Amino acid sequence: MDYKDLRELMVRTQLIPRGIRDKRVLDAMERIPRHLFVDRTTIADAYSDMALPIGEGQTISQPYMVAVMTELLELRGSEKVLEVGTGSGYQSAVLAELARDVYTIERFASLGELAKIRFQDLSFTNIHSRIGDGTLGWLEEAPFDRIIITAGAPEIPEPLIAQLADGGIIVIPVGGLYSQQLLKTRKKGDNLIKEYHTLCVFVPLIGRYGWKRE
Ligand code: SAH
Repeated sequence: MDYKDLRELMVRTQLIPRGIRDKRVLDAMERIPRHLFVDRTTIADAYSDMALPIGEGQTISQPYMVAVMTELLELRGSEKVLEVGTGSGYQSAVLAELARDVYTIERFASLGELAKIRFQDLSFTNIHSRIGDGTLGWLEEAPFDRIIITAGAPEIPEPLIAQLADGGIIVIPVGGLYSQQLLKTRKKGDNLIKEYHTLCVFVPLIGRYGWKRE
């Protein structure tokens, strides 16, 4: 089987049966070469139903989790999206296929720089990346129509709520250090409308408005 077959199999056996409906999300994940975002040593498992180590004690999320979070963002193509936790860059690439622009922040320079090379190699011109503490957001580029945090947080970082456009959506795993629940929050004027989804396990969001240390 080649990588294209493995991607088709991933969509058909891991995503569709578990309820991923958004055709654009399924198509994007069938297109993005996930094997180019994993470590060479784990390439045989690039399309397996699991998270994989990417260095610095961090992981690339399981394909299903990427699909769920992306679907919850309700992307139509015109959105400006902020991602906190670039990691491998795989989730950023999926977002870039479905939105207008993606701004992504990573705290480890080694991971952020590697992801940037991947974006260039794959000719993604609508992904803007930087190194830093993503819990502070990206003030110069705010407001964002959508914000996705791909690390587990005690609660939604305050600056990210402030940098979300009215009518915008934040998707974030919230809870304890070892298990969380996906939270989708829509901003309506001064109100936040919250919806809880699947249980999940993410590496911790470390920063000024996240966990203080590992
Ligand atoms: N979206 C990634 C998932 C990576 S795991 C992917 O598809 O591969 C989460 C990432 O969040 C890790 O790389 C971790 O270093 C990063 N992270 C944790 N706290 C952060 C913070 N405050 N700002 C930016 N990145 C952070």
